[in-house]
Amino acid sequence: MPAQRLDGKACASQVEAELLGRIALLKERGIEPHLSVIIVGDDPASHVYVNSKVNTCKRLGIRSTHIALPADTDEATLRHHIHTLNQADDVHGILVQSPLPNHMDEEGLTDLIHPDKDVDGFHPQNLGRLVQGRTDGMLPCTPSGVLRMLRWAGVDLEGKRAVVLGRSRIVGMPAALLLAAKGADATVTVVHSRTDDAAAVCRQADIVVAAVGRPDMVKADWIKPGAVVVDVGINRIEDASRDRGWRLAGDVDPEVNEIAEWLSPVPGGVGPMTIAMLMENTVRAAEHSLDA
Ligand code: NAP
Repeated sequence: MPAQRLDGKACASQVEAELLGRIALLKERGIEPHLSVIIVGDDPASHVYVNSKVNTCKRLGIRSTHIALPADTDEATLRHHIHTLNQADDVHGILVQSPLPNHMDEEGLTDLIHPDKDVDGFHPQNLGRLVQGRTDGMLPCTPSGVLRMLRWAGVDLEGKRAVVLGRSRIVGMPAALLLAAKGADATVTVVHSRTDDAAAVCRQADIVVAAVGRPDMVKADWIKPGAVVVDVGINRIEDASRDRGWRLAGDVDPEVNEIAEWLSPVPGGVGPMTIAMLMENTVRAAEHSLDA
């Protein structure tokens, strides 16, 4: 039997519906949530991501401003923009779209964002809170979207074996921490490029979260029948049958659909959840500004 669909679009719509109420309450109190996005250069995929973030803001009644800088912008200019936005009382969330051009120190620059406005959840203070098991703050959007989607589908994580493929700062490691956190209570193994026999490790798992950036890497024979599989990967692969010459593929081979109990599609799985969690962080930041 084919897997049930971990439908990120449907779950994201539910998150958005909840946010509308919180946004209305904020507006009654004179606060318009405001997200400011900085994009440097002209990477087409990054512009697509920024447009969908801006469109979601519009749909929800969140104000968004968009600072587009040329690829040869120097770091001092970007630092200046971040400092200005940190100090602007009417800006609640700041996001610097990744990737930045190679001449920039992306980690160092995003560290300059005030932790209260760090709606991506990448600031060391916010990641540090997560390590401490404090999951009530700004959480990285993609991993928190994965957890929200699993809860939405009613997947019980307690005591289950979870394998996270990938150990990046923005997806793999925070996903592992969230799965292992109190309340989720999974037993987590992290697989990376130096892992011996990743397939054998995956076959033990009740839950697999794939975030490696390698198209179709996770094969059907890596998956235990009945496992829950979340495909975070977004990979462009050539496809001559499409007018545009490419299509999106996840990190999970489509044949896993015949083995897993739940599988998230690409596109339409983790992607919409990432944006929904960004919106939630922006609303949370605006609510927090009322107490500041
Ligand atoms: P990343 O920073 O490149 O990290 C990839 C991780 O995968 C690394 O930890 C790497 O291990 C590991 N890896 C690479 N090859 C491997 C192999 N053969 N076996 C086992 N592990 C391997 O990527 P990322 O930023 O985490 O993103 C991962 C994927 O998620 C990408 O496709 C990205 O586009 C996608 N993504 C999607 C969303 C969304 O909203 N859906 C958001 C963010 C990212 P080492 O550490 O040993 O090198």
